[in-house]
Amino acid sequence: MTTTTQQPVALCDQAQRYLFQEAHDHFIDGQGVPSASGQTIATVNPSTGEVLANLAAGDQADVDRAVQAARRAFTGTWSGWTPYERQALLRCVADVLDARFEELIQIEAMDMGAPVSRLRNTKPAMMKMLSFFASQATNISGETLMNGIPGPVATMTLKAPVGVIGGIIPWNGPLNSQFWIIGAVLASGCTAVLKPSEDASLSVLRVAQILHEAGVPEGVVNVVTGRGSEAGHALAAHPDVDRIAFTGSTQTGRSIIEASTVNIKKLQLELGGKSADIVCADADLDKAVPGAAMGVFANSGQICFAGTRVLVQRPIVDEFTSRLMTFMDTLRVGRSLDEAATLGPLISEAQLEKVLSYIEVGQDAGAELIRGGERLGGDLSSGYFVKPAVFGGVTNQMRIAREEIFGPVLSILPFDDVDEAVAIANDSEYGLGGAVWAQNLSTALRAVRGVHTGTMWVNCYGHIDPMIGFGGTKMSGYGSKGSSAHMDTYLYTKSVYIEI
Ligand code: NAD
Repeated sequence: MTTTTQQPVALCDQAQRYLFQEAHDHFIDGQGVPSASGQTIATVNPSTGEVLANLAAGDQADVDRAVQAARRAFTGTWSGWTPYERQALLRCVADVLDARFEELIQIEAMDMGAPVSRLRNTKPAMMKMLSFFASQATNISGETLMNGIPGPVATMTLKAPVGVIGGIIPWNGPLNSQFWIIGAVLASGCTAVLKPSEDASLSVLRVAQILHEAGVPEGVVNVVTGRGSEAGHALAAHPDVDRIAFTGSTQTGRSIIEASTVNIKKLQLELGGKSADIVCADADLDKAVPGAAMGVFANSGQICFAGTRVLVQRPIVDEFTSRLMTFMDTLRVGRSLDEAATLGPLISEAQLEKVLSYIEVGQDAGAELIRGGERLGGDLSSGYFVKPAVFGGVTNQMRIAREEIFGPVLSILPFDDVDEAVAIANDSEYGLGGAVWAQNLSTALRAVRGVHTGTMWVNCYGHIDPMIGFGGTKMSGYGSKGSSAHMDTYLYTKSVYIEI
């Protein structure tokens, strides 16, 4: 790994003006609205540790106002939009976001620290998502059913939008992840109040403004910023919110379940993970080494499905480790606007402290710290940079193999045969992602069938397509993203009996 401190790319005028405006209000009913309390929260550029912007600190009053706006929109003219009109709107939104993409990734890079080079590569994923949800708008259908009722009675089911969606979003990639909610809301005819993370709200606020400019009616997509314990909790507990789409930690997921009981909200919970990436002795290491490495280090390890437990078959542990070291020499850690950077900082000082503490936890438990794990100094010392770390000799009982670190820390766990690898993979409270690298397809399918997890990749890591879907099981949550099943959770089924 090397560090890079090239001149940053110059911010475009629109990103510059947006980022450095005096205040960043909530976005409610098509306009900026300051917090009712007048309070703000400072948000920090993780590449420099400097204050970047002041966000409105939302509370119950702000959430009430946004939910009222969303409810008015839900029952107002938006409810009369035809599927074709909603589809056309989604296509128009996609065109506008396509044209504004560079501005958006610069805002995201400054706010959450991902390098512009990485963010630029996410454009096809965003466009695919919008295209997928546009297709779903005209694909909502009920059924005409036979019945056993005497007399001429026709029976059918209709699908109707669930109502007001509360979307609670984490900081590790809000620019893209918000479209899992916005896309489904626009396709289904629901409305939304989004609550982004207090550590990275700007791309969500900016997108809401752009959506409105692109023709999304007032009140259909609202954003309230603020702390999870206040604005987030108020949204999760709000009696007029019909459904919560939550992505975040398992711990917060529990609070959301509790808060949702007030009106028996429907829930989608996308939670944490501790995924296992199984590298068999016959794997093509030219692919498996970079694949497994970036399955952990991409986004500086801040990815829910990161394959942080790398299970390597015993005969190839040395070769795998040596090739991993060579691959890691190619990683370039730098500030988010540095075009040469492949990895950026961690989101916050708190996250940096957490990751550094796990480096100590691993060493104290007897794991061998083969590489990295220290805070980077020099020109990067004011940001929250950590050198990507590799632990060898890890056992699955160690905390570094059981707890989600959410940083660039890879653990190598040796195994003898694929059944043992499956058993280790399953010895976890999480079940989000996972992979197997093997040239023998029977071995690979044995792992695919055996690992209890929401997604398995074979000889690759991290592909996600909205047509296929992605989701967790066990303590990684429930309610998949993507596929028609995703849309179904924004709709409810109404049974209709017509006596003729
Ligand atoms: P977090 O749980 O701390 O926060 C997520 C969101 O919930 C934020 O907007 C936060 O303000 C809000 N929140 C916090 N407390 C709340 C409360 N009591 N009530 C309501 N809202 C509250 O998570 P994070 O640190 O922002 O993100 C990292 C976590 O997200 C990791 O655990 C990661 O695995 C998970 N994640 C999961 C997926 C997935 O698809 N499964 C995707 C990305 C991230």
